[in-house]
Amino acid sequence: AAAAALKDLELDLNGYPNTYSDGLRDALAELYDLERDNFIVGSGSDELLDVSFKTFTEWGDSCVSPVPSYSLYNYFIELNGGKSINVDLDEDFQLDVDAMLAPKAKVMIMPSPNNPTGNTFRSKDIEEILERTEGIVIVDEAYGEYAKESMISRVNEFDNLIVLRTFSKAYAMAAMRVGYAVAGKSVADMMTCVKIPYSLNAISELTAIAAVKDQDFIKRSVSMVNEQRPYLDAGLRKLGFETYHSDSNFIMARSPVDHAVLVSKLKEKGVMIRDFGSKRRTENCVRTTIGTKELNDILLEKIAEVIDEC
Ligand SMILES: *Cc1c(COP(=O)(O)O)cnc(C)c1O
Repeated sequence: AAAAALKDLELDLNGYPNTYSDGLRDALAELYDLERDNFIVGSGSDELLDVSFKTFTEWGDSCVSPVPSYSLYNYFIELNGGKSINVDLDEDFQLDVDAMLAPKAKVMIMPSPNNPTGNTFRSKDIEEILERTEGIVIVDEAYGEYAKESMISRVNEFDNLIVLRTFSKAYAMAAMRVGYAVAGKSVADMMTCVKIPYSLNAISELTAIAAVKDQDFIKRSVSMVNEQRPYLDAGLRKLGFETYHSDSNFIMARSPVDHAVLVSKLKEKGVMIRDFGSKRRTENCVRTTIGTKELNDILLEKIAEVIDEC
């Protein structure tokens, strides 16, 4: 639907877009049964990450994120004058609630499902963090469409909760740079004051509105991933990988051969996967997207070739 909207585009280039993208915020409000004022939209969820820290972090404030998780958090925290504190996840890659709360951070951020491990965090842990902290808690649901649970419906219950979502993953629209934050109205209002007006351009807004109204696409995409996840997981295990539970559209797995060799030899064969093997906690691990059956078969075949060559 977004591609079709782009094709039939009739746009007056001379006019500005709507200041805070009310059209898209209304479409999202309808989708989640919330109100326009619960939403802030911007140029990718990366903009909303930046806006969140810009709004709630003052110079020297501590901000907490778990490890391993999304590497850009530390960048946005420090760029906005904050001090980033990284707290280890437990053995099952779940949140260590007491350790997360200990630094009494101004802002805490966690992706759920987590990137790169793939699992969701227990909602009771997220709720406990929300209840026990006086700071802001950002739950980055970049892969939320694939997960069974979401914190979006809870934004009016917790006045310190911000949920981030993006059109870059399940919506398959990374090129358009659209993301959104969902929060209670007072937090949303503070973020709107800080955000640059017009940061979402008119073309991106129009295609995102079309995409929101095409939830069938999301259903098809998510069910394809749900179907292929156990298939790819079993294929990787058969090749000697130790796979981790995923609630997302990717799988993290510990390679039976050297991670760097695997990734570079696959690249020579035209297959790109992400290397996390030299990072602490994900030693010798790689992360691969779950594709169509055809793509997953190519991936498994090329990995088998590399293992043979090793
Ligand atoms: C991809 C990703 C983002 C960034 O999304 P954009 O909307 O493209 O900026 C944010 N958080 C996580 C965890 C991601 O994986």
